Amino acid sequence: MTKDFIPDPIIHLDSPNKFIPHAHQSPIVKAAEMMSDKGYKDEKYLGNYLRAKMKRDGKRFWAGDNISEYVNDHNIEQLIDEATEAFELVLDRLLIDRETDPNSKGTARRLAKMYFNEIMEGRYEPAPDATAFPNDSADRYEGMLVVRSELRSMCSHHHQPVSGVAYIGIIAAQKLIGLSKYTRIAQWCARRGTLQEELCNDIAREISRATDSENVAVYVQAVHGCCENRGIMAHSSLTQTTVLKGAFNTDQSTKKEFFDNIKLQQEFAPR
Ligand SMILES: [Zn+2]
Repeated sequence: MTKDFIPDPIIHLDSPNKFIPHAHQSPIVKAAEMMSDKGYKDEKYLGNYLRAKMKRDGKRFWAGDNISEYVNDHNIEQLIDEATEAFELVLDRLLIDRETDPNSKGTARRLAKMYFNEIMEGRYEPAPDATAFPNDSADRYEGMLVVRSELRSMCSHHHQPVSGVAYIGIIAAQKLIGLSKYTRIAQWCARRGTLQEELCNDIAREISRATDSENVAVYVQAVHGCCENRGIMAHSSLTQTTVLKGAFNTDQSTKKEFFDNIKLQQEFAPR
């Protein structure tokens, strides 16, 4: 374990038999110390160095935040190596024999790569390049556009899969982006640790940014592994969230047209 291991206070503080690696230091003191530069020049873990740097910069790095300014192609391999080491420890603590069980050999590295390169990729990658095309000629498109995007995400509470679909609506503004870009942006937002409510907001904000349109609507419906595979084990649960901005929020006929479009899409190709 690294010397900067901080027990999760939610889990550890109330536990009577809690394990404190440095009994003379509370987690809060440790966290405060990490705000300073002390020791970080010699920090052997790049992950610790980057966390300290983000704290210094006041950069939030929650599970749903993009931190691509701090992570790049040159250092991602080192971060994967460090996460592999940490996952090895998790497997050891779970009492899984990763030395002789052929299926558990290499699992730590598979997990580390999967987190960085797949299920949390949207945290480490910059926004997809969404080239905009001008929509300002005399016969410009002024109607509504509704795009359906498949989503794969992960809940930040349990790291369980979230799978569903987003319907993204905009009223075209001065520029248009390629149709596939709506889905790329939505998937970039989704491939992080998220809550569906946050994800819906994130997609609306990023689509608005890429298109310059203030009139944006996002409807997401998804099934959540944390409701299906654990807890209430609800196999048919479905969660729906809606974010309506601009005319979608203020104009009833625009809102109706959006939801009518969703129904038409669902009839055409059920989801
Ligand atoms: Zn969950």
